[in-house]
Amino acid sequence: MAQFTRREMVKAAGSAAGALLFMRGLLRGGTALAAPSRPGSPECVPPSPCSIRLPAKQGLKELIRGNKRFIKGQLTHQRQDPSRILEVSCGQRPFAAILSCSDSRIPPEIVFDQGLGDLFVVRLAGNILDDAAVASLIFGVTHLGARVLMVLGHDSCGALGAAVDGHEDVGDEGPYFPAALGPAVADANSDFGPFMLPQDRSQWIDRAIDENVYLAVEALKNLKSDALGCNPAFQDLVSSGELMIVGARYKLNTGEVVLLKHSDEPDGDPA
Ligand SMILES: [Zn+2]
Repeated sequence: MAQFTRREMVKAAGSAAGALLFMRGLLRGGTALAAPSRPGSPECVPPSPCSIRLPAKQGLKELIRGNKRFIKGQLTHQRQDPSRILEVSCGQRPFAAILSCSDSRIPPEIVFDQGLGDLFVVRLAGNILDDAAVASLIFGVTHLGARVLMVLGHDSCGALGAAVDGHEDVGDEGPYFPAALGPAVADANSDFGPFMLPQDRSQWIDRAIDENVYLAVEALKNLKSDALGCNPAFQDLVSSGELMIVGARYKLNTGEVVLLKHSDEPDGDPA
């Protein structure tokens, strides 16, 4: 069974060579992300380059407030009307970037009650921080101006379940999820185990879900790459505190998003 340490995980994400290649392609082939789509329209005012819509702490507060509206069944469906379609047709300035699971029960725009152009979302089963996810998140932060970056795990994640069930099959020829999520599964077992399948399966998965978020947050905080586009260096934004990277977990039975302890949560209740 291959073993992955936190250091190896951070190093792998920190290299970001593949991430930068991905991002260059995104900038060349995907300029429609920020380019005017309706030039000449009087209503279409492109956002100024590198402008910041919300500072980090305010952005996090907005996410939490939106989640509280969601929990209470008080969705505003704000910024989802035809005028907003036109408003963002010529550019976007999302205030938050989110890495979340592809699970159909957790669409971030609904969970946080946000509209078009508010969130820059990367979704992969198991919220896996691979090279493409890293590059996309860097793009959302350094080029589009997001100043809060959330890694969002959730209860009963099927990808972590597959990773725990297949933890002995990790390797070059092994199934994808046990390999990609192996570090979180191993950390959960070493920190809180030893777990013995099958009786400890649920507890192991539950711990691995949080460990997977912690590892992604730690890796993002230790990224070594510079960014393209507007090009404020990602790590400078982290070290200065201008970018807030937080880990969180979605509660399936309540809809609540809970910030995890290892995150950069500001002192006190950000809401
Ligand atoms: Zn999941």
